[in-house]
Amino acid sequence: MLIVQKFGGSSVANVERVFNVANRIGETYKAGNDVVVVLSAQGDTTDDLIVKAKEISGNPEKRELDMLLSTGEQQSVALMAMALKELGFPCISLNAYQVGMSTTSAYGNARFKRVKPDRLRRELDRRNIVIVTGFQGINRFDDITTLGRGGSDTTAVAIAAALHADKCEIYTDVDGVYTADPRVVKNARKLEEISYDEMLELASLGAKVLHNRSVEMAKKYNVELVVRSSLTRVEGTVVKEACKMERMLVSGVAGDDEIARISLIGLKDTPGKAFDIFATLAKKGINVDIILQSIGRDKTKDISFTVPETSLVDAQKVIDENKDRWGFSEVDYNENLAKVSVVGAGMVSNTGVAAKMFEAMFDSNINIHMISTSEIKISILIDKKDMHRAMNAIHDIFKLED
Ligand code: ADP
Ligand code: ASP
Ligand code: MG
Repeated sequence: MLIVQKFGGSSVANVERVFNVANRIGETYKAGNDVVVVLSAQGDTTDDLIVKAKEISGNPEKRELDMLLSTGEQQSVALMAMALKELGFPCISLNAYQVGMSTTSAYGNARFKRVKPDRLRRELDRRNIVIVTGFQGINRFDDITTLGRGGSDTTAVAIAAALHADKCEIYTDVDGVYTADPRVVKNARKLEEISYDEMLELASLGAKVLHNRSVEMAKKYNVELVVRSSLTRVEGTVVKEACKMERMLVSGVAGDDEIARISLIGLKDTPGKAFDIFATLAKKGINVDIILQSIGRDKTKDISFTVPETSLVDAQKVIDENKDRWGFSEVDYNENLAKVSVVGAGMVSNTGVAAKMFEAMFDSNINIHMISTSEIKISILIDKKDMHRAMNAIHDIFKLED
């Protein structure tokens, strides 16, 4: 079998963990499999590198930031290759350039376009364990890009798809995908299986256990994922197309406190305003999420929307540049908010879900600022300080516990 195994930062955080992972990789190899390993940067390396950059510049140039951040993964693959060689396994470490992992040119948020299988195949044919840097790619200028925080999962899926791997295993510091972040909701339950669509929603709404684009890509290329722990032998969670799973009304709760709300107040109440604002933001690569427009009064209206916290500086720049054309009287930025969501394929045909979620907020005396719904999720915007309490209350009211 051809198996792609990805290990996250905490799984390779120190010497002991590196050898723990090396031993597990070795077992898979000894069983007769071809193995490609994808690694993240060790422990807090990526965070530390960001701090370093910010010591030099408040808003570092994105190309240079990617050049810096990509070094974390390069350290991991070299160290893992050394560990595997110590254990007597033939192996080679490769970075994105050496593999030929092409991405779009958006520094800090690049998407894979193509993964060349040739070099990987050649190394596998030599019976090498191939250890590849996660999180990075190369754009059309031959510059290094990164995929966005948590992006190593996507590298693993991209490689699994390019090689038509039999298995793609994502090893992390929890036993699998839970009904909510088990570090926040103590009685969260591990799921045996989850569908791509539900996992994609959970990941996009803040459940960091998988990078959302890895799920998107897994669905597109039909790569079955297993999420499991590098520290225990417990069976993980399978992410796949159809699930025999009890069609649960709600399959999980997610929280995201890395968002900001922008309110444009006193806009002229004329057709084309929203189009102009959101088309301009989209052109600059700013992802807008929940949008709320007030009822017009005195020929003016207000539009509020949320963006990822990491896009706030860019969004502020766009707003400043377009202030005169958009003609609002005031702009307000709020970073003290969080989004809490429930996700579940079962809610398509059930009308009571939103009401139940609001009941949980009422019982906990938590104020809701904005609401957004779709067929398989409901999100609310609340104060950041209430996020953990809200997640627990919602988890309780839907009885998702063990
Ligand atoms: P890695 O470094 O292995 O990529 P991450 O920190 O990116 O690990 O993701 C694993 C973390 O995701 C867990 O430690 C857990 O706190 C968090 N998490 C959030 N939501 C969930 C969920 N629904 N199920 C499991 N883990 C979750
Ligand atoms: N090292 C990168 C990060 O911390 C990528 C990853 O861990 O997936 O975001
Ligand atoms: Mg991760």
